[in-house]
Amino acid sequence: MLTPATPAPDSGDTIAALVNLARPCRRIVAFTGAGISTESGIPDYRGPGGVWERQAPPTLGDFRTNLDTRRVYWEQRRARYPTLVAAQPNAGHAALAALERAGRLLAVITQNIDGLHQKAGNDPDRVIELHGSAHTVRCLDCGRSWPAAAIAERLTAGESGPSCPVCGGPLRAATVLFGEPLPAEAFRRAVDAARACDLMLVVGSSLIVNPAAQLPPLAKSAGARLAIVNRTATPVDPLADVLVAAEAGSTLAILASALLDDGTTG
Ligand code: ZN
Repeated sequence: MLTPATPAPDSGDTIAALVNLARPCRRIVAFTGAGISTESGIPDYRGPGGVWERQAPPTLGDFRTNLDTRRVYWEQRRARYPTLVAAQPNAGHAALAALERAGRLLAVITQNIDGLHQKAGNDPDRVIELHGSAHTVRCLDCGRSWPAAAIAERLTAGESGPSCPVCGGPLRAATVLFGEPLPAEAFRRAVDAARACDLMLVVGSSLIVNPAAQLPPLAKSAGARLAIVNRTATPVDPLADVLVAAEAGSTLAILASALLDDGTTG
């Protein structure tokens, strides 16, 4: 098997190895991180030079107790939201949607909050958002939620720290803040998917954030193959059957096209 310890600069051989690895698989689960969305113009907040390196996001405790924190948070969101709404899925998202339509993809587990997998055509019920969604806004006190677009209108109209129209509690995006555990239901579904897949395909995640980083080893120990498509090394690389150090979009496009050709030629 072609499993280089260090991914070669020319990834042609490793992409061929990825296609061979995936060819017999019918229950693929993709695990995606920021690297799949940077090609859609969504910044990698956690990465080197990312927004969070310059200014950390608020912690849950700070958000709850500090009105100024909430004002700054909502001002930044008001500024960033139009970019998020305008972002379009790229070739990587499209390839995963095509694999799902062909009945080869069980689920997408994602660390991204941008909603681009759903926009690309993946069934929302098969997209497991480990860090929540920026397209939903939730009340910190009563838990009710609204589409982010409705709150964006209030921000544009001049509100600086929007509160819940029902109970008056502070509103926040339905994304995971620092110091906050992952949504339990999403993580439970992710664990189920990791146990059920025959190939876990990691795309654009450096696999350093726990507990999400435990999912690829879990899939592997349950008998799945493991492929990692990421531009930089990850701590899970030694477990991988194939490593591809290349762009997510072009790599997944080649993979999906090879597997779908198999499907049409029997
Ligand atoms: Zn409320």
